[in-house]
Amino acid sequence: MAEMTDWRQRRSLRARARATGLAAAHGHRDARDLMRVMFEEEFPGEIAIASSFGAEAVALLALAAEVEPSVPVIFLDTGRLFPETIAYRDTVVAHLGLRDVLVAQPDVLELAAAYTAGDLWSQRPDACCFVRKVKPLVQAVTPYAAWITGRKRYQGATRQELAPIEASDRWVKVNPLARWTKQDVFRLIASHGLPRHPLLAQGYVSIGCAPCTRSVAPLEDERDGRWAGSGKTECGIHTFELGEAAGHESASTVAGAR
Ligand code: SF4
Repeated sequence: MAEMTDWRQRRSLRARARATGLAAAHGHRDARDLMRVMFEEEFPGEIAIASSFGAEAVALLALAAEVEPSVPVIFLDTGRLFPETIAYRDTVVAHLGLRDVLVAQPDVLELAAAYTAGDLWSQRPDACCFVRKVKPLVQAVTPYAAWITGRKRYQGATRQELAPIEASDRWVKVNPLARWTKQDVFRLIASHGLPRHPLLAQGYVSIGCAPCTRSVAPLEDERDGRWAGSGKTECGIHTFELGEAAGHESASTVAGAR
């Protein structure tokens, strides 16, 4: 166990040093150029995009597809998503010509064990997110040195300081849209004629799992629609020490999720 901890710490320190260097060299680049550099120069074959295919995800995916339509896109199917999100994923993949979409799903045995204590999402949402999101995501990104997210600073208090390049456990994490405004996102969606998530028209703006997402009123924060009334604001994939979530470290763990 001590050896594993040392190994993780070394990988984590390396990722942090790499992220610091990358931020100094490339942190000023715009979103498209930043992804080009990451795909072609810094992490060729070693980087993936994690996407929820939520209300704004298509903006990042469209920019990525312009640069490299073969980039692996990890879609986290928690088993609790809106059917509209699944249908929208298929629409976006076809529209953009994305060629490598990996579906990461929770382990059925872990789900069964977790649910012996009752309905997880309502009684223990952190545990539910851990089994349905954090662990599958860790397994999906294990083969890569870096991954890309669509997070932005305007998405609530926990993201106001978001950097375009950071380290997360043993991975470099790239946030090409960190400095974008909501207007930037929807301007790109409109100017490129991109498909819109069908739930947008019903007042949903931050779209996650169906039991934990509601529509928001015009003056509410968009994240108010997630885990409403529970005090929970993040699922954990951006806040948890991801390496700790990996019950095993084998790159082959993702193979069944393709
Ligand atoms: Fe479970 Fe809700 Fe988290 Fe989805 S968002 S994994 S349903 S607690």
